[in-house]
Amino acid sequence: PSATANMKDKSDRATNEQVLDPRTRLILFKMIGRGLVHEVNGCVSTGKEANVYHALTPEKTHLALKIYKTSILTFKDRDRYVSGEYRFRRGYSRHNPRKMVRVWAEKEMRNLKRLVAAGLRCPEPIEVRENVLVMRFLGDADGWAAPRLKDAVLPPEDVDRLYRSMLLATRTMFHACKLVHADLSEYNVLYHERELWIIDVSQSVEHDHPSAFDFLRKDLANVDEFFARAGARRTLGLKRSFDFVTKEDEDPEALLERMLAEERTEDDDDAAFKEAYIPRSLNQVYDPERDVEKLNRGQGESLIYNTTIGVEPAKQQQREGDPDHDQEHEDKQ
Ligand code: ADP
Ligand code: MG
Repeated sequence: PSATANMKDKSDRATNEQVLDPRTRLILFKMIGRGLVHEVNGCVSTGKEANVYHALTPEKTHLALKIYKTSILTFKDRDRYVSGEYRFRRGYSRHNPRKMVRVWAEKEMRNLKRLVAAGLRCPEPIEVRENVLVMRFLGDADGWAAPRLKDAVLPPEDVDRLYRSMLLATRTMFHACKLVHADLSEYNVLYHERELWIIDVSQSVEHDHPSAFDFLRKDLANVDEFFARAGARRTLGLKRSFDFVTKEDEDPEALLERMLAEERTEDDDDAAFKEAYIPRSLNQVYDPERDVEKLNRGQGESLIYNTTIGVEPAKQQQREGDPDHDQEHEDKQ
């Protein structure tokens, strides 16, 4: 067959899965034309907001193509991640689904880059074109995707190590990447080469997002519950996981070992912590006078944010050097 017919055939295969509008097909077609992609194969996953396809480069390297759906409805419930996020100040048009979806795809690309820069395990992002994110495929040489943590069969002797690595990764994500995953669970972690790989970071928020601590608490509850069920000998529980991730410390690995060795005390009331209101900044503290009084009476320990508000000053510094602070999103409306 002629080259053109061949390309058409390859971009058509993905189209059969019913999500690809003509414009998305054109994007894939161009990727094939440029030689980035040689063939697009089957669907690895169909989701509410995106489908993921396996693809090959001309050199037979495996790729994952995450193709965001461009229907407006599926992105409605994402508003809570958007409001309060300075990266969405401009160019986020709720009336233009193609633009909206493009912002999410670009955001996922940049969040993945931050993870890579911090040395975390995640699929290496390759490029984003509108609603199509190209990244490294995590899986075997035959193109079978690595299982989600939820479906993986973990060697029992690895569970404790993997639990620690998950908490350390969440901590690095918070301190080095300045991000909270915001949808972290056994569904968004892949088990590949006996390690955990973080995926699905399009909704991840800046650590100073107004709801960052609520998202982090939920993420950590998922991690703790999963590993407790998976047979970890010990988990920190919710409140101490939260302390571990947010606390400043020179040597996180040693801190984690110390915290895991401690007995749980009455103070670690996870049920109460789950309901507690966690202010993200001093502006949000409900009753500062009462709290200052507590601090002066030496009762600062009982303040839920006593170790967390300390991270605030990093904010300004990070924004200045952050590539997200530039023009990329100044979409002409
Ligand atoms: P969503 O949950 O929004 O549909 P995800 O990013 O979680 O999108 O991807 C959906 C599924 O696709 C994942 O659970 C995983 O099975 C698969 N997947 C995603 N990215 C990759 C990748 N880089 N390599 C292999 N499989 C992937
Ligand atoms: Mg997912």
